[in-house]
Amino acid sequence: MDEFIREDGRSPTTFRNMKMKVGILNNADGSAYIECGGNKILVGVYGPRELHSKKHSKPDGAVLRCKYNMAPFSVVERKRPGNDRRSTEISKLISEAITPCVFLEKYPRSSIDISIEVLEAEGGTRCLGIVGASLALADAEIPMRDLISACAVGKVDDTIVLDLSEKEDQTGNADIPVAIMPRTGEITFLQMDGNLTQDEFNEALNLAYAGCEFINQMQREALLNKYRGEL
Ligand code: ADP
Repeated sequence: MDEFIREDGRSPTTFRNMKMKVGILNNADGSAYIECGGNKILVGVYGPRELHSKKHSKPDGAVLRCKYNMAPFSVVERKRPGNDRRSTEISKLISEAITPCVFLEKYPRSSIDISIEVLEAEGGTRCLGIVGASLALADAEIPMRDLISACAVGKVDDTIVLDLSEKEDQTGNADIPVAIMPRTGEITFLQMDGNLTQDEFNEALNLAYAGCEFINQMQREALLNKYRGEL
């Protein structure tokens, strides 16, 4: 049987072209930059630093705060600057996806702040935000159980596919962004839009595991490249 070829020429199990780099912002404690297809995403991490507000600090560990923001020029139609429901939801879910892997208990009464700036968006920004946040935390040398990886899988023209573009996200039958701790295989985040049979869902989840394995390799390479460059 001929393999399904997607509109942008990819096979069902191929990512868009991807680049990852860490340590690019001088004034952040850790940073990462990711390009994937038409996405360009910059992440900065500040902390851990003492949180003076008694109301917001926790005596038994750091508070992880995440802010996802889309620049006005990140999409074709100018996006109104500032928070909206979508960015509030994505900030919360990225923070929840990352929290299980960080040793927050090492930093009582502190905060770790993650800023995710989407400079250009083309589908998949929440997953790339998780990947970038994880990289920037590692770059900030914040101790973690694992380097969280994430990717979206879905169904387009009755085929299970990896890494949906914006167009596939809009016209496809299903979209499932997933974040995984590769060492244990634990899923820390999963959303599902659309309908799949149980068999299709299982196939999609297996593809997400394989996709996250690939992303994890790229994350490790990006971190190693920083130290290779410094030698
Ligand atoms: P994700 O980026 O995680 O796939 P969505 O499914 O909500 O999140 O969005 C899919 C894509 O739709 C985005 O990556 C972006 O390219 C586009 N998009 C999102 N919000 C807007 C907006 N306000 N205006 C134009 N395009 C948008």
